[in-house]
Amino acid sequence: MSDRPLLMIPGPIEVSDAVRDAAGGPPPGHLAPALIEAFGASLGMLRRVWRASSDSQPFVLPGSGTSAMDSAVQNLCERGHRALLVNTGYFSDRMAEMLRRRGVTVTEVKAQPGEAPDAELVRGALASDRFDLLFATHVDTSTAVRVDAEGYARAAREHGVLSVFDGVCATAAERFEMEAWGADVYLTASQKAIGLPPGLAMLVASPRAMKAREALTVAPTMSVDWHCWLPVMRAYEERRPAYFATPATGLIRALAVGLGEILGGDDDPARAMSARFALHERGAAAFRRAWRELGLTAVPQRPALLSNTLSALYYPAGVGPELLGEIAARGVVVAGGLHPELAPRYFRVGHMGHVLTRPDAMRRGVRAIGEALAAKGAAVDVDRALAAMEEE
Ligand code: PMP
Repeated sequence: MSDRPLLMIPGPIEVSDAVRDAAGGPPPGHLAPALIEAFGASLGMLRRVWRASSDSQPFVLPGSGTSAMDSAVQNLCERGHRALLVNTGYFSDRMAEMLRRRGVTVTEVKAQPGEAPDAELVRGALASDRFDLLFATHVDTSTAVRVDAEGYARAAREHGVLSVFDGVCATAAERFEMEAWGADVYLTASQKAIGLPPGLAMLVASPRAMKAREALTVAPTMSVDWHCWLPVMRAYEERRPAYFATPATGLIRALAVGLGEILGGDDDPARAMSARFALHERGAAAFRRAWRELGLTAVPQRPALLSNTLSALYYPAGVGPELLGEIAARGVVVAGGLHPELAPRYFRVGHMGHVLTRPDAMRRGVRAIGEALAAKGAAVDVDRALAAMEEE
């Protein structure tokens, strides 16, 4: 990891050597026995990582997070539907646009950048009108704000409304209990906390969500249609060959490895995922202690909103986006601001997956940021920031 830039953007992320090896090499055919096994095993593991019920339906499609969002929107919604959308930033805006393109009437509960509506507010909004669906971004990557997904999902259930969560910057890192909370779709992409290169769109749909697809009068675009993919997913889970459209076969081979790493060989998914969520909590807490020592303040305005997958940090006085070049010159790649209202005022550091198993890489990230701040004239003590990472 040390002789090339360390990727600490909020996706794509660093991947383990085992995942890299599985993703590389000649692509397997989509009907090859080893591919069928990897695909079938991955679908079963998806349910465990999502903490989803045994009658829920996992889908793994070629594409990115945006394709997963399209898949959810197009399979659940059509003209005449009404959606409540909790808007916490850039990717919630994208979801709103997708819903509107599908002819859905969208009511937004919008938060200031760095804030999120609490579950009571969402419950009140759900009670104020008739809705078919609730959409929220679990962690909005533009602000690093994590919403109360449990509270929202439970409120939606109480109102008989389907709930859909964009987990692209959260799934497998932030606690999500799909079955216990009664959520209907949880979607993500391979290049974030799943720990793979980009190229796969993933989601799990509840039986209620699958029924909503049945009730549609206008079919989705074929490439994301659950009807087209369902026989393929079922066949692979039963270890039979199938075809609808060519899967990203090299990545499927890597998916079985990546999900296996997340579950850590533990056959109790509750325990395995608790350990995985705790890894992210501990890692994020160590980074936060370092940021505090470096005098950096977070975009999320309350501790409860701080995500464990990335930090969004305001530049200190006198420092601006040129800091990113200084950090890159020290071999670490972080991301600029993304929220349209704040973009030039802050930067983002991704900390999910593999990097959290590498304390040397975590320290390398903090050292590069601290030294870059010092180079820009900020009064920082990098060694103190590094020491703070160790103090639990
Ligand atoms: N939603 C969220 C929360 C994201 O962070 C991203 C990507 N950063 C997307 C959706 C879109 O995913 P992709 O870029 O893989 O299409």
